[in-house]
Amino acid sequence: MLKTVQVSSNKKTGPIAVTYRAGVRDTYGTCPKTCGLNPAPDAGADTIDQEYMVAVLKAVPRNGQAWTYSHFPAEQLPAPMPGQTVINASCDDMDSAVDAMAIGRPAVVAAPLGTDWSGGIEYRGVKFVQCPAELSEGFTCMQCGGGRPLCAQGKRDYVIVFVAHGTGAKKVGTDCAGGCYAAQGPTAIQWHGTRKTGTANDAAALVAFAKSLPPGSMLRHHVAGDIGRAR
Ligand code: SF4
Repeated sequence: MLKTVQVSSNKKTGPIAVTYRAGVRDTYGTCPKTCGLNPAPDAGADTIDQEYMVAVLKAVPRNGQAWTYSHFPAEQLPAPMPGQTVINASCDDMDSAVDAMAIGRPAVVAAPLGTDWSGGIEYRGVKFVQCPAELSEGFTCMQCGGGRPLCAQGKRDYVIVFVAHGTGAKKVGTDCAGGCYAAQGPTAIQWHGTRKTGTANDAAALVAFAKSLPPGSMLRHHVAGDIGRAR
């Protein structure tokens, strides 16, 4: 099930187009079972929904930019191609992020609550840079990268770090399942609602949504949800 929002009120993304994706039976149904942040791994997906993933790659607004994140293993994700949505490999630790970069996948990593990344660091020869929206009040994806959001730059030589936030943040970077930032608060409300009011044919709905957006728009796929095949 897919929910599309033409102008988001999300503080971090700013007023850009966004989507949410959920399973019919469970909100976490499109997220991989293997995601370390998933508090309901048994409800998650075993495999990528290939039809939907192709739709995501195509769903770029005319003359615009599109990006998303996936917690499926980096080697299962498509490498970035010009004109397509950038799918970032969302990694649970620094080593996985470096490994993803080594096979040509742009990577992001969730860092434990309270850790300081503001100066950036280098690890195994790769730079790690914190999301600028976490460092400056009022900064959004719209301003990021001077109009070329860092997460939409598929060919980059640094990992983007997101420091854990939300009520499950203490679980990020531990062996406990959970820590997903979308598990509580306004994002959770939107995401749970997607199960009831979203569009059933999410691949077709997504392509149509991207085409309907004004030229030059930014589209962030899946504020919550992933590219899995929901059971
Ligand atoms: S790095 Fe930039 S594009 Fe990515 S989430 Fe942060 S502000 Fe948005």
